[in-house]
Amino acid sequence: MTVRIALIAHDKKKDEILAVAREYVHVLQQCALVATGTTGGRLASELGLTVERMLSGPHGGDLQIGAQLAEGNVDMVLFLRDPMTPQPHEPDINALVRACDVHNVPCATNSSTARLLLEQLTIRLAAQPA
Ligand code: PGA
Repeated sequence: MTVRIALIAHDKKKDEILAVAREYVHVLQQCALVATGTTGGRLASELGLTVERMLSGPHGGDLQIGAQLAEGNVDMVLFLRDPMTPQPHEPDINALVRACDVHNVPCATNSSTARLLLEQLTIRLAAQPA
């Protein structure tokens, strides 16, 4: 079954999520990806990944991803938040992280955790029969 991954990065974290995604591009290519608008645009244009793009985060993209997650359509969230910059859509950010906890969906909020999750996913996908 295809693993569905959501990717979101605040502006100062976009280069970081691109770096992580570049390292694991062969894994991400095997997954169904959804992302907030700008993050998804960069993943598509710079890494050639196929990404379902939602609205930009401040315009409701986090909420759209949260809704998909609540309906059981997201298996993993890579959400590189910027803890040093106030965000206008803080309630939406908290709602998405809360939804992950409500539905017990793995959620990485920094790149170290994102790498650990993708490392584990690499192992699982490699163990799957072709
Ligand atoms: P963006 O949204 O990918 O459209 O920049 C991310 C966010 O700020 O939540």
